[in-house]
Amino acid sequence: MPELPEVETLRRDLDPEIVGREILKGWISENAPRLVQGMPPQVFLDSLARRRFTGTSRRGKYLVLELDDGTAFILHLRMTGQLLLVDPQSVVDPYARARFWLDDGRELRFRDVRKFGTMWHVADRELVLHRLGLEPLSDEFTTAALYAALARRAAPVKAVLLDQHVIAGLGNIYVDEALHLARVHPLAPARDLSRRQAGAIREGAVRVLEQALSNRGSSFRDYVDSRGRPGSNVQHLRVYKRTGEPCLSCGREIVRTLAGGRSTHYCPGCQRRPRRRATRRVAGAGV
Ligand SMILES: [Zn+2]
Repeated sequence: MPELPEVETLRRDLDPEIVGREILKGWISENAPRLVQGMPPQVFLDSLARRRFTGTSRRGKYLVLELDDGTAFILHLRMTGQLLLVDPQSVVDPYARARFWLDDGRELRFRDVRKFGTMWHVADRELVLHRLGLEPLSDEFTTAALYAALARRAAPVKAVLLDQHVIAGLGNIYVDEALHLARVHPLAPARDLSRRQAGAIREGAVRVLEQALSNRGSSFRDYVDSRGRPGSNVQHLRVYKRTGEPCLSCGREIVRTLAGGRSTHYCPGCQRRPRRRATRRVAGAGV
């Protein structure tokens, strides 16, 4: 699933290509009933026709394409969504769910195998984005802000970091990577973490996101950029999907577990399981 670095790579590539371009017309597949949110697909297409792109931005995993009337065309790729900028002669496969023809002859095509992707056309982008949490590559993502957010939650830190209302943009890959760098066990209750640990998680998250951005994202199966090219960050991952391989820091085998219902990878040497206060053994008990 594309996370912040993948969506940001897409945005940075698309920006110089589409800003200034006009949408001539669009098409939505009848086989994608949940793609357009908030209005019927034909109303969506009519409202986007003849609009010109004036800028791009991103919030968490949401891509925001700004339009010349002040409205926003917002996309979320979810599991398998791809936003491709293609030439008119490019072959249309059965997974094309939406197509937008631009005034330079090219086409912005949304391709999505699993059909979880969503799009909106809104006058007020906050209607879609207002509940999102801290933006990890912004000034608001401070140790104090993260520590305060973690302190309110009893759930495992892994689950809390995946919650887009707490931090926007992290998913399964980068949470596992950030926790490994921070040497924090994924099942540690969020509210039991110290300020120092919160600071280490913040630093780890920023580092893994910046590294992934510089490698143009992590591609396992589905993520490709707007020209269909995969990112190269997978070879730089330290724990994610490295079950049974040696930890790059200590040599112990990376293990896989479940946290918050999600597949979770960590090093049992670097990321010690926290002692549970309620079950602490009494020294000297027994015969
Ligand atoms: Zn280790």
